[in-house]
Formats: sequence, structure tokens, C-alpha cells
Amino acid sequence: MNKERYLLVVSGPSGAGKDTVVSRLLQMHPELEESVSATTRQPRAGEEEGVNYFFMTNDQFEQKIARGEMLEYVNYCGNYYGTPKSEVDRRIDAGITVVLVIEVVGAANIKRMYPDSTLVFIMPPSVEELGRRLRARGTEDADVVARRMDRAREEMARAGEYDFSVVNDQVDRCAEELYEIIKRRQQA
Ligand code: 5GP
Repeated sequence: MNKERYLLVVSGPSGAGKDTVVSRLLQMHPELEESVSATTRQPRAGEEEGVNYFFMTNDQFEQKIARGEMLEYVNYCGNYYGTPKSEVDRRIDAGITVVLVIEVVGAANIKRMYPDSTLVFIMPPSVEELGRRLRARGTEDADVVARRMDRAREEMARAGEYDFSVVNDQVDRCAEELYEIIKRRQQA
């Protein structure tokens, strides 16, 4: 089978609950693995190096770009985010389904490089609910929340570029829908 089919790319606006859905997916189906991204943003409380992200300085990130070690990267709200090649290549070569949780520009770049990858967009139940979840999280101050809401509207406008879009009205159901999508694609 084409190894690109082992790539599942998940996007959705900040606050849509995509991290929660993907955690649930990996809990239910531990044979799937998540790619750990690199970022220059500051760790949030409780985030761990090498688990949530590889946290690095601008210089370190730019060195990785220069060495060709990033499969894709973007500047998102003032910070670099990128997928290290090492997180993806060895897994798809071994036939392990790897899940990338990345924003829309990175997802489009992956699709260009890997046309047989599967792109799924996670929608919040509504924009109002999205705003409520972002504020309730309390990890970002008001102007960051406002910027993320703007970015969320832009991102949702691009959901049509994805192979599938699913509504996160209920975490378990949404996680199972993701699993069905990737399995169906792999069996096709
Ligand atoms: P956060 O700061 O909330 O963890 O992430 C901000 C946005 O960056 C989210 O939409 C997240 O999915 C995205 N992101 C995280 N890692 C990557 C990556 O490696 N590449 C790209 N293109 N986006 C990423």
C-alpha cells in the first residue's frame, strides 16, 4: 500500500477540541501514533518537552529549517511551528499510521507533498461555542484570544480543502469517526 495513506492530518480552529479528540483516538487505538511538532512558543502550564512539543529558540528552529529537517513549518501568531521529518518518515515507512495535528497552511503543504494523505478538519459545534471554549481555557490573555478567534474564522473558511470535515459535538463519537475515516482510506 502507498505509505502516504498512513498519514492522517487533523486541523481545526484553536478551541475546536482537536487535541482532546486526537488524544481520545490514540487512547482507543494505541497502534496509531502522533507526531510531536517543534515550536518556538512558550510551554503552557503542564506541557512537557518531547510530549506536547519540542520547544526551541528561534535560532534552533531556523537551524533545523536550514538543515532540511522540517517536513513543513509555518509562522502562526508570531511563533514557528513545524513537523520534524524524523517524526513522520520512519513511521510511515514501517506502516504505522501517524497523526499530525497542524494548522491549515501546513496541512495544505503536506497534501501537496503527499497527495494520498488524509486530511480531516474538526469543526466546533458553533462559533459561539468556540469563543466560549477559548475563554474558558484561561491560558491566553484577551488579545491572544481575539487573534485566535480571527484566525479560527479564516481557518474554518478553508475546511472545504480537506478530504473530510467532522463536527466535534461529542469527543468519543468524533474520535471514532476519525478512526473510521482513516481505516476506510487504508482499505480502499
Ligand atoms: P498551539 O499554540 O495552540 O499549541 O498551536 C497553534 C496552532 O499550531 C494549532 O492550530 C496547531 O495545530 C498548530 N500546529 C502545531 N504544530 C504544528 C506543526 O508542526 N505545523 C503546523 N503547520 N502547525 C502546527
